Amino acid sequence: MSRTVAFVGLGHMGAPMAAGLVRAGYHVLGHDLVPAAVDGAARAGVEPASSAAGAVEHAEVVITMLPAGRHVLDLYATLLSAARPGTLFVDCSTIDVADARTAHQRAVAAGMRALDAPVSGGVLGAEAATLTFMAGGGEAEFAEARPLLEAMGKKAVHCGGPGAGQAAKICNNMILGISMIAVSEAFVLGESLGLSHQALFDVASTASGQCWALSANCPVPGPVPTSPANRAYRPGFAASLMAKDLGLAANAARSGGVRAELGLRAAELYAAYAEQVGATEDFSGIVRTIRDQSGE
Ligand code: NAD
Repeated sequence: MSRTVAFVGLGHMGAPMAAGLVRAGYHVLGHDLVPAAVDGAARAGVEPASSAAGAVEHAEVVITMLPAGRHVLDLYATLLSAARPGTLFVDCSTIDVADARTAHQRAVAAGMRALDAPVSGGVLGAEAATLTFMAGGGEAEFAEARPLLEAMGKKAVHCGGPGAGQAAKICNNMILGISMIAVSEAFVLGESLGLSHQALFDVASTASGQCWALSANCPVPGPVPTSPANRAYRPGFAASLMAKDLGLAANAARSGGVRAELGLRAAELYAAYAEQVGATEDFSGIVRTIRDQSGE
């Protein structure tokens, strides 16, 4: 008999993730505040539930994929009293580490079990079921969630106790945000020195400057044909999402007294850039802002 999973939050990520579970044979009850999102998921085999509480009543596992921590905590207030005791709550949203720990505590206090399991890989990864999950919580909870995570992704890493998945996510994305700015500044500096994009790429991608921001998501058109720079910076990973993740990292660094000077500066630069372009541009488009502001 297939397991019943409630999936709440059927947006850009949630809908294809829920569809992946359906393909793997799970019975998925889905809910979203936006009716069109529910309709889209229903076409992929998700059974629409009339409310979030209605979705979780009969579920053994509850997965949430929501915009931010306040949505998760608000919704948990309803869901934790509607679910059956012992239900496993898996939050895949990217949220503040402190909010993730609060959600976990509230779930346990209500007689439930919990895991934070944010993802990397974006909408394309969700559609192809090639996401990477970073999980925080107990060993037993991770072991139970693992088959579901592997139905939606290619890799699931248990990072530690409650909140550890969110911690891994924001630390990784802090590296990514800083390295994209570093690569972009190097290309703009190279331009001013008369160095071609291809020459810098050929050297740095096989030398000590090598990183994902350069070799997979190169911010200038040409050297990596699949990078968003070759399609007018259509995302990819939207600038607004990078700004969000760096904001979470900056908050965590400030509250932990961590001297993350580049992380805090990257958060400021991405906040300003995302204010201009929102979700319409890939985060690598920041190279244009750096170029435009050079020589001012
Ligand atoms: P989205 O805005 O497309 O989807 C969120 C969905 O949650 C929306 O459909 C919204 O209607 C629904 N929702 C909000 N409150 C609700 C409630 N109370 N009850 C039911 N539904 C509710 O966002 P997304 O791009 O799918 O991202 C979801 C999460 O995944 C975010 O935390 C984001 O940071 C993270 N993430 C996104 C990407 C990406 O590339 N889009 C990549 C990695 C991680």
